[in-house]
Amino acid sequence: MTITHNLGFPRIGVQRELKRSLEAYWAGKQTAQELEATGRELRARHWTLQAKSGLEWVPVGDFAWYDQILEWTCLLGAVPARFGQPSDEPVALDTLFRLARGRAPSGSPAAACEMTKWFDTNYHYIVPELAPEQSYRIARSYLFDQIREAQALGHKVKPVIPGPLTWLWLGKGDAFTQGAGDAAKLTLLENLLPVYAQVLQQIKALGVEWVQIDEPILGLDLPEAWKQAFQSAYETLAKSGLRILLATYFEDLKENVQVLKGLPVDGVHIDLVRAPEQLDRVLTILDDRQVLSAGLISGRNVWRSDLDKAGELIRQAARQLGERLWLAPSCSLLHVPVDLDVERDLDAELRSWLSFATQKLDELKVLAGSLADTTGADTQWALQQQRLALSNRKNSSRIHNPGVQQRLKASVGVGRDRAPFQQRIAGQQKKLGLPSYPTTTIGSFPQTPEIRVARRDWKQGALSDATYEKAMRAEIEQVIRFQEKIGLDVLVHGEPERNDMVEYFGELLGGFAFTQNGWVQSYGSRCVKPPIIFGDVARPAAMTVAWSAYAQSLTDKPVKGMLTGPVTILQWSFVRDDQPRATTCRQLALALRDEVTDLEAAGITVIQIDEPAFREGLPLRRTDWQAYLDWAVDCFRLSTGGVQDDTQIHTHMCYSEFNDIIESIAAMDADVITIETSRSNMELLGAFEDFQYPNDIGPGVYDIHSPNVPKLEWMVGLMKKASGRLPAERLWVNPDCGLKTRGWPETEAALLAMVKAAETLRYT
Ligand code: GLN
Ligand code: ZN
Repeated sequence: MTITHNLGFPRIGVQRELKRSLEAYWAGKQTAQELEATGRELRARHWTLQAKSGLEWVPVGDFAWYDQILEWTCLLGAVPARFGQPSDEPVALDTLFRLARGRAPSGSPAAACEMTKWFDTNYHYIVPELAPEQSYRIARSYLFDQIREAQALGHKVKPVIPGPLTWLWLGKGDAFTQGAGDAAKLTLLENLLPVYAQVLQQIKALGVEWVQIDEPILGLDLPEAWKQAFQSAYETLAKSGLRILLATYFEDLKENVQVLKGLPVDGVHIDLVRAPEQLDRVLTILDDRQVLSAGLISGRNVWRSDLDKAGELIRQAARQLGERLWLAPSCSLLHVPVDLDVERDLDAELRSWLSFATQKLDELKVLAGSLADTTGADTQWALQQQRLALSNRKNSSRIHNPGVQQRLKASVGVGRDRAPFQQRIAGQQKKLGLPSYPTTTIGSFPQTPEIRVARRDWKQGALSDATYEKAMRAEIEQVIRFQEKIGLDVLVHGEPERNDMVEYFGELLGGFAFTQNGWVQSYGSRCVKPPIIFGDVARPAAMTVAWSAYAQSLTDKPVKGMLTGPVTILQWSFVRDDQPRATTCRQLALALRDEVTDLEAAGITVIQIDEPAFREGLPLRRTDWQAYLDWAVDCFRLSTGGVQDDTQIHTHMCYSEFNDIIESIAAMDADVITIETSRSNMELLGAFEDFQYPNDIGPGVYDIHSPNVPKLEWMVGLMKKASGRLPAERLWVNPDCGLKTRGWPETEAALLAMVKAAETLRYT
């Protein structure tokens, strides 16, 4: 039967065992031995589970205490100087944690390494810090230890490691300023490759035959120098005598397929879920000894696969390649939850449409079985079940909402355009009567333990609706009174009723489902439980109007309505795969449009639609950017375009890299955009300055990630810098982001200083 294998398995554990153990260890409540035991237990469990589904090898090296790239950085001994790592000692576990978090149970605290998004996923890796002349050595033994560990349990293993070019591409350093494609980084290969060679030799000495080397940057736009670097790099690695499977995923190789031509590797893995059309191109490049690993089960989504379709796509290649065809998930299963079987609350119908990591391995087995000359009875039965589930999903009335679909069709002509900004802002100023440098916040106020307990008790039915509402109203009133007292200009209700900015809306919209344990690692011990958008999105009733209207009833100052935008809801959910993402996003936009107009009708004069995930939706390839930006901007305008010109629309984004998307940001045409700028010293306002961004903007003046109270003079200084770049009459004064993770004492002090800073600016 066709060989099946896996690129990586989620490490966090079905009950988030790793998270619990890590956090206990960091808090000094567990010993290193206990933490190690948790890791061993999880690895053993996951290997057994994978071996049971008939994989040829189990992956080793996909387990990580915090992040697989960080593990590798430490194995290479690439520890920044500030961590005081002796150059002749192994890198200790606590050193790894200090790189990740700045502190650990032992060792002195130091500034943590940066963290950033892993390609187009919601996983975050720890950015390797690169220095010129950096030397490398094998400084951690986890990979070899874990190979032995798996072998001792009776498994055949296939180690998985990050490729040298991808590792360099992902890194950064003071000397390497030109971004990911900086060719100067390639000079580090000279020192790096000998250590890779040593690693491979050691792996080989353990009796391993195949190693998987991940080079996902082959799905990106690569400068020529990077493409060329592959040949000589892999010539060095090939000398190890290990058989190398070069793994790519997340995108079509496109022109990078040429990089594979004559590359001394023994096989290539490609993502055929994301890009089925690359199959033929890759087949023509492979020589007659090389293996093709076909990624046919999605590692990025939770839907049950269409195995007939996958089989159809690969059947011809299977005949052609024989044993040289392997089957696998499209990428590591890190990005999906562990096991559907623990979901007790999902109804049977919905469950039958889904597949998590464990089920995906079963699907892989069935797919392999379906390609055999004679399909066994088990496979036949499984295929039948799968067909049934798929056709049931396709025809289910729960997916299709004719009202929504009709409205979507009609939405082409629905107004997105408002009067020109100059005209709008004049009317808004008249209505709102705001001073220059108006002050506001981003939405949430501290989520105290009392608020969390009230929400939880209410959800579990231990608190009546009336008591819960009373508690939330009391909280809102307190937040309003506080804001009035310190003299903020545009108030917020504080979002006490929201656990999460996407989940809150998902729970009130039709077409969404929620899991109990569908956790996916976001970074370190942090997991998210993305909602599942399975059907047409509808808004059965207003979602925020009662809270906002109540808040507004308490004060004469404007209270901002607060919504999460369509792109962000889409980005942070598992999205249905039976229609384009843009279509699902437009449905979300229409639902939000109704909420926006309802808020307006309820007397709310300022409405903010948060889009923190707007930028992360950008496709990996530049050529695909414009198409995305077009529909993303259109969705924002669709959700906001229904209001009067004197209703003020705000948006918020938690970052400030706008250089390459500034035109689209301007096209969103929000009256006010608030962004995160305090840590960059307003440098990043450059994009807005160069573009001569016309609308109002609130560059964050203080970092909400830190409990430190910012100094008044510091904030005044930042705003002066901002007014050197943009017209002062367009500027707002606000923090970088929401305050939900902060405590009250620092929030009070910081906002008071911020209001004083705005007053100083007005009178000087
Ligand atoms: N309104 C949200 C809040 O203040 C925005 C959060 C975000 O940008 N991630 O919490
Ligand atoms: Zn934010």
